Amino acid sequence: KKALLEVKNLKQYFPIKGGVFGRTVNHVKAVDDVSFTVYEGETVSIVGESGCGKSTTGRAILRLDNPYAGEVNFEGENLVNLSKSKMRKKRKDLQIIFQDPYASLNPRQTVSQILEEALAIQNVVPAGERRQKIVDLLETVGIGAHQIDRHPHEFSGGQRQRVGIARALSVNPKLVICDEAVSALDVSIQAQVLNLLKDLQRKFSLTYLFISHDLGVVRHISDRIIVMYLGKIVEIGDKKSLFENPQHPYTRALLSAIPSTNLDEKKERIILKGDVPSPINPPAGCRFHTRCPFAMDRCATEEPALHNVPGKEHQAACHLIEEGPVDFSTLTSNY
Ligand code: SF4
Ligand code: MG
Repeated sequence: KKALLEVKNLKQYFPIKGGVFGRTVNHVKAVDDVSFTVYEGETVSIVGESGCGKSTTGRAILRLDNPYAGEVNFEGENLVNLSKSKMRKKRKDLQIIFQDPYASLNPRQTVSQILEEALAIQNVVPAGERRQKIVDLLETVGIGAHQIDRHPHEFSGGQRQRVGIARALSVNPKLVICDEAVSALDVSIQAQVLNLLKDLQRKFSLTYLFISHDLGVVRHISDRIIVMYLGKIVEIGDKKSLFENPQHPYTRALLSAIPSTNLDEKKERIILKGDVPSPINPPAGCRFHTRCPFAMDRCATEEPALHNVPGKEHQAACHLIEEGPVDFSTLTSNY
């Protein structure tokens, strides 16, 4: 398998200014030393609660905000070093779909104007062929040719997201970052849009980085899953391994919150105590130690590395794994 995207030691710190001179007095450490690889044709999801740094990671990859430190290698080229104009051209290869297509679609433009503009900016097809390309694109996402001159408000939420998808695909991207792309939609519409994204992935050989707060949503679409907590990756693994055998106490709590579809399965919801601490002065040691039901003394001072789970394509940042794969049923919670 070929790496399409390699994020290395990515940091996104936002300065906090203070004092009479407006100097930087501290930083919000929104993303703090994150590394991962996305291979061609796969779907990798980043999940975590709001404020964990998942959207910030997506924005840094596209340089919607320039990273504070680290590398974003796309097809072997570090995007962080590109000039603004070179990066603009790169946008052809890397597209993003947001949660609220309404906010990113100009309400005064018709759908065909919106797509025309996207095509013109990247000069994907000659002007004379654009109308046909637009009709084809909309058809691909399930919007009929008779709707092409409508405005965004004349569509339902699900249809608007389809327009957003058509716009992202109009420039023939390789990587599409979906940031909470279905989170605002009703559950039944969510499933339709997720299925559409899967179909489009096959049809156009797309690679997805799928950002969501909802492990239930990413379950169907992901090949691999990254779990983030307070700016760090706490667990990363193939979907099956991560769902069946979560190795990090935080992932386990997140999984316990997904409603079970199997009525026989008794599932105990793990409620974590306390709130997510501030990313300005995150806890020392393991960032999760203030809320972890299994925290040990050393967790308050020693930061856990990402350890391999033996025999699996799966890693977790927890001291417990040093003794081998974690079997939570043998551990006592200190809550
Ligand atoms: Fe919990 Fe310690 Fe593991 Fe962190 S390192 S998740 S605090 S047991
Ligand atoms: Mg977000």
